[in-house]
Amino acid sequence: MPTVLDQTDAADRIRAILTRATARLHRVSTTPELDAGLLLSHVLHKPRSFLFAHGGDAVTPADRSAFETLIERRRSGEPVAYLVGKRGFWSLDLAVDARVLVPRPDTETLVESALALLPAAGPVRIADLGTGSGAIALAIASERPDCQVVATDASPGALAVAKHNAEHLGLGNVAFAEGDWFSALGEAPFDMIVSNPPYVAEDDPHLTALTHEPRQALVADDNGRSCLRHLAEGAAAHLVPGGWLLLEHGPDQGFFARHVLGRYGFRDVRTDQDLGGRPRVTLG
Ligand code: GLN
Repeated sequence: MPTVLDQTDAADRIRAILTRATARLHRVSTTPELDAGLLLSHVLHKPRSFLFAHGGDAVTPADRSAFETLIERRRSGEPVAYLVGKRGFWSLDLAVDARVLVPRPDTETLVESALALLPAAGPVRIADLGTGSGAIALAIASERPDCQVVATDASPGALAVAKHNAEHLGLGNVAFAEGDWFSALGEAPFDMIVSNPPYVAEDDPHLTALTHEPRQALVADDNGRSCLRHLAEGAAAHLVPGGWLLLEHGPDQGFFARHVLGRYGFRDVRTDQDLGGRPRVTLG
């Protein structure tokens, strides 16, 4: 009697399935092997390390077919984070869906810069404008339970995702407010305002790869500069004297960001670099 494993075609085993899927994702992803691994581990409800240790295991036809469906969706450009419904950011596992931009590792630079500037002892009030999934607000809140964070977004859908994440992570020091930029804030001033606003230009070719993500989280008028300018212009009225503004921007917008912060009265303006050494966060 042949065993079940003997009857299984080698092509149905984890290692072979991953190799084929990786080849099919090369066109759409810069990380095809990682994507395939994340999607298969999602289908199998196993950590990704399981795939390496069990490369010779067979996959059931049902799991195979669920995986194929996800690979096809990934091939059409859907981000892995939407397909698996979550994304790691900082030390947090965040739920994400198509209502929010997928948190980028680049944005951890903004979190690092913010944490480095916060006074060692509270109480400190921080606003995260355009919070999306809540990534920045929740990362700061998790590191600094003594800080009060207000997270805003103009999109009710995005706020629902951010609130869900705060509840799920048990972070009680974050409050949420719906509204466009400063309109969501009350009278009380903040010690720090942070934002990763939309800053991609309408004609940026990069956008063709981002069609599944909310355009309002990505694209800004005036060559991607309008939100950065609006934030620099209005922030001082919502900050305590000596308070900080930190803005994420594109690698080619550092000069512009320093210029607008200077123009609206910010001092000690500087730009911090992301892990790739590109200028991404301007603060003052
Ligand atoms: N960093 C994102 C990207 O280029 C853009 C994020 C944003 O516009 N805030 O994919």
